[in-house]
Amino acid sequence: MRIASLALLFISGILASCGGDQTFVTIGTGGLGGVYYPTGHEIARMVNAKKSEYGLRCTVESTGGSVFNINAILAGDQEIGFAQSDRQYQAVNGLAEWATRGPQPRLRSILSLHPETVTLIAADDAGVRTITDLKGKRVNIGNPGSGQRQNAIDALTSVGIDFERDLRAEGVKAIDAPGLLQDDRIDAFFFTVGHPSGSLKEATAGMRKVHFVPIVGVEKLLAEFPYYTLAMIPVSHYRQATNTEDVPTFGVKATLVTSASVSADIVYAITKEVFTNLDALKKMHPAYETLTKENMLEGLTAPLHSGAERYFREAGLLK
Ligand code: GLU
Repeated sequence: MRIASLALLFISGILASCGGDQTFVTIGTGGLGGVYYPTGHEIARMVNAKKSEYGLRCTVESTGGSVFNINAILAGDQEIGFAQSDRQYQAVNGLAEWATRGPQPRLRSILSLHPETVTLIAADDAGVRTITDLKGKRVNIGNPGSGQRQNAIDALTSVGIDFERDLRAEGVKAIDAPGLLQDDRIDAFFFTVGHPSGSLKEATAGMRKVHFVPIVGVEKLLAEFPYYTLAMIPVSHYRQATNTEDVPTFGVKATLVTSASVSADIVYAITKEVFTNLDALKKMHPAYETLTKENMLEGLTAPLHSGAERYFREAGLLK
């Protein structure tokens, strides 16, 4: 009896020192050279600063990107994750990577963040002035699990390029692409991201001169897919790229998603902290410049999570 109660005391001591009264929340982001990763850290910092109020402890994970995050959330391995608005739409409707598994009814949206542009960057010496010049080239279209992979395939398909037949397509993570481009092991790569991005800065900073390639003539794509809009790459962020003007392309929005299984209190706390700290967040990264409380409710196709809805009603953002 005495031994049993001593053991009990010992175990509860361990639990207390591990923060047994805290709920752990994992936020899935993207690669270290993207915008999801620093944004995830900022959100975690906001929520963790209110530990005594919410009892939450957020940790941030670097991941393969949107598709990986959605699947990890649905499997219960992550509570919160970043996902492109187009990937959110596809998961809800059972398209693209979800075509065989079908619609994912447990996915929930929380809020949307910065615009992301489908960015194509190529070496000046590779002879790629337009997207159609990619035929026969070595091109990284993105790792399976990333958001950009399907954007690259869509862009290529819309100009009549079959990525499996007409290209030497690579499928590596965006973090590894700048090195391959600088080492002349690829000619170009796609990355769907907010600007500026560390990986794109790295790609422009080497000896091999590079430029952003306009993606135009994709009107069919915009007509076919409701989540794509026209967008511009602001080249002022990348002084070492050889472009002299902003580059036209198309884009989507970054969003935060979760699952119906995650508690309303967790999602409420995260939503509230992002919205009440919006001014501080906007100063943190130029990609957030255009954020307003109102446009952070756009681009959400999964049903709104009840915790986010609670905050939006309280704040008068939802009637
Ligand atoms: N949009 C990319 C993806 O979904 C990630 C961009 C980022 O890490 O900022 O994979």
